[in-house]
Amino acid sequence: MRVPLVVGNWKMHGGPRQARELAQSLRDGVKRPRGVEVVVCPPFTALPAVAETLAGSAIGLGAQNCHWEDSGAFTGEVSPPMLVELGCRLVLLGHSERRHVFHETDDEINRKVAAALRHGLQPLLCVGETGEERRQGLTFTVVEGQLRAGWAGLSIEDMGRCTLAYEPVWAIGTGVNATPAQAGEVHGYLRGLMSQIGSKDLAQTIRILYGGSVKPENAADVTQEPDVDGVLVGGASLQAQSFIAIAKKSAAKGGAPKE
Ligand code: PEP
Repeated sequence: MRVPLVVGNWKMHGGPRQARELAQSLRDGVKRPRGVEVVVCPPFTALPAVAETLAGSAIGLGAQNCHWEDSGAFTGEVSPPMLVELGCRLVLLGHSERRHVFHETDDEINRKVAAALRHGLQPLLCVGETGEERRQGLTFTVVEGQLRAGWAGLSIEDMGRCTLAYEPVWAIGTGVNATPAQAGEVHGYLRGLMSQIGSKDLAQTIRILYGGSVKPENAADVTQEPDVDGVLVGGASLQAQSFIAIAKKSAAKGGAPKE
């Protein structure tokens, strides 16, 4: 069974002091999660404070991006071994804000995925279409291209160490979430594709998260879809009570009693 995963993307919000407070509230609210895994991705500058606050807790630490080289003349970048040293176990890659605001290419994202894997970090590869692409009927074409490119050159074993997030760009930070049926359809398509690119077994083990305006009110419905294995949460992850409620609602699928 795929244990649901709930990941908080704090984006560029909060320095170490604010991050420590949020992490402390999460730590108090998610003591022994049953049927769900929880990870938070603070800004780089808050990683040490959050690592310290969450040490010994059940909440994992992740980062929002990384470079593909280990070190070198790359001003402003952060490498996978630096993240590992801080205690990160996961890294978001190909988030739509990286693709659309910072113009990251599929090739760069692919190099980052490979670099993260080399250092034992779990890449959480994000894929998703824009509103215009959906209107033009290009949703499957876009997410397929992003997955194939992001995973190019990986062995099946390495693919198995990845997690995927379907994040329609039109749903991120807009308050307009995909319906469970819309998410389920794309997740099903991605799972079928993973079975072609890798194998049937691989496709059954990889978690595919949904992201885009997830809130406590819609988390249970979307995570009940058979191919939705948890959620990637932006805005609502900045409020401890909202994020905790989302984690609890997602846990129902992983075997925890319903609220
Ligand atoms: C995100 O940043 O990955 C995201 C899904 O944001 P939000 O939940 O705010 O839509």
